[in-house]
Amino acid sequence: MMKEYDMIVVGGGAAGMFAAIQAGYAGARVLLLEPNERLGKKLLITGKGRCNLTNNCPWQEVLKNVPRNARFLYSALSGFTPEDAITFFESHGCETKTERGNRVFPVSDRSASVLDALKTALGYAGVEIVRARAKEILTVGAVIGRPPEGSGIKDQGDAAARTDAPRDEAIRVSGVRTDKGDFYAPAVILATGGKSYPATGSTGDGYRLAKALGHSIVPPVGSLVPLVEDGGFCAKMQGLALKNVSVRLFEAVGGGVLNAPNPSRTETLGPSWTPAPTLPTGKPVFEEFGELLFTHFGLSGPVILSASAHMEPGKAYIISIDLKPALDEEKLDARILRDFAENKNRSFENALSGLYPKTMIPVIVARSGIPGETRVNSVTKEQRRALLELTKHFTVKISGLRPVEEAIITSGGVATREIDPKTMESKLIPGLYFAGEVIDVDAYTGGFNLQIAWSTAYAAANAAVRKQEYIRDASSSGIKDQSP
Ligand SMILES: Cc1cc2nc3c(=O)[nH]c(=O)nc-3n(C[C@H](O)[C@H](O)[C@H](O)COP(=O)(O)OP(=O)(O)OC[C@H]3O[C@@H](n4cnc5c(N)ncnc54)[C@H](O)[C@@H]3O)c2cc1C
Repeated sequence: MMKEYDMIVVGGGAAGMFAAIQAGYAGARVLLLEPNERLGKKLLITGKGRCNLTNNCPWQEVLKNVPRNARFLYSALSGFTPEDAITFFESHGCETKTERGNRVFPVSDRSASVLDALKTALGYAGVEIVRARAKEILTVGAVIGRPPEGSGIKDQGDAAARTDAPRDEAIRVSGVRTDKGDFYAPAVILATGGKSYPATGSTGDGYRLAKALGHSIVPPVGSLVPLVEDGGFCAKMQGLALKNVSVRLFEAVGGGVLNAPNPSRTETLGPSWTPAPTLPTGKPVFEEFGELLFTHFGLSGPVILSASAHMEPGKAYIISIDLKPALDEEKLDARILRDFAENKNRSFENALSGLYPKTMIPVIVARSGIPGETRVNSVTKEQRRALLELTKHFTVKISGLRPVEEAIITSGGVATREIDPKTMESKLIPGLYFAGEVIDVDAYTGGFNLQIAWSTAYAAANAAVRKQEYIRDASSSGIKDQSP
């Protein structure tokens, strides 16, 4: 005989643990399901093992860092703010500190401190944890009346066929079927994460579970993901990390259609290039100063991951790197002249070591159009100008994103139009709630994604508890349940 609970939370990641804690603190009997041998596997690798757990900014600022569906998060973020998150962790034994860009980390610089705080709270909240994988969300009842448009549920018979319940009862959640058996509760919070870094447990199960109940899934693609180059320059500099460069992302205009180098492994962004790119003009879509890495496929590193969150499918892009952002053109020209003067009897290719990293020099020579063997004292003004342009605007054509599995975050997921933004409850299946990355929301780097996990989990848990209290009060007073 299986035990009954007030609530089942599916997924022991950031959002799932937090939802279970909140519901437990509110007095609910909570079961947390997690197939991994340990909770919070992804949380442990966040922030390079240091966990950037939130951003110390007003909640309205968080919204500005959410490129799509920000409005959906308005209520959740105002209900549980970054300040609330900091207070929660501090009061559970995890001291925090704020670093550059308002990024909040544990003082210990160890993500394990964040996980320990959550585990402590799970204990205080009396949450029962079972190592099991959810295979199906169970429902009772049937769809009364016309199913919501686009829900995928065709008619009453379709929904009723999946349940043993009387057909005159409206469809609602009744539990979860797992590889360890069935568990029952009138509320289920789905917090199974996205599709990125599947080794941590987020394998996209939540999309399948939600889809089986008629939810629309916005196709998941990677965000905060490395970029694939259309061309071979980056591979030649594989392993080279450039700190303190300025990166600008431009939308490219024109060009033919070219597939990503290996379409099965990459998400193609859209039209690419037939001719070689000219210097991009117009306003950049994104601009940031920081660190990047050249890889065998293209570009990675913090600035590049941030840039990727600003890219939209169906568009072509070009990255322009300013290799010497501290020098304006006049100062850079003076610097080049000085280096050339110091190496006046050397060839062009042997006079560049003061200006560029060693692995970059052959690429700079090839792209500058200046023959490598040219004596530096015979480099013309026009050639020097070309070198200057290349240094200030080192362009890389982008053909696509690396696959979602390599992304920090999944963009896409359960469509927000089918979720009540105040309660995180499904508009299709009463009693089913969503929290965290499984929802079609994602943010830039800076601790915003974990803040979304905390805020949506808080909203879902509290709404689910309130609804059950309302139903209990209503039934004990003899009032017919009219809960939304
Ligand atoms: C390398 C890396 C670094 C990151 N760094 C940061 C950072 O510093 N700051 C930040 O804000 N964000 C960061 N993120 C993003 C952040 O980790 C996610 O936004 C966050 O973990 C999402 O939480 P979640 O609970 O929704 O999903 P997850 O943390 O992915 O948790 C989902 C859980 O559900 C479980 N699950 C899946 N399927 C089932 C099933 N069928 N039944 C039961 N359980 C299931 C999984 O095993 C997993 O434990 C980083 C991500 C990565 C990959």
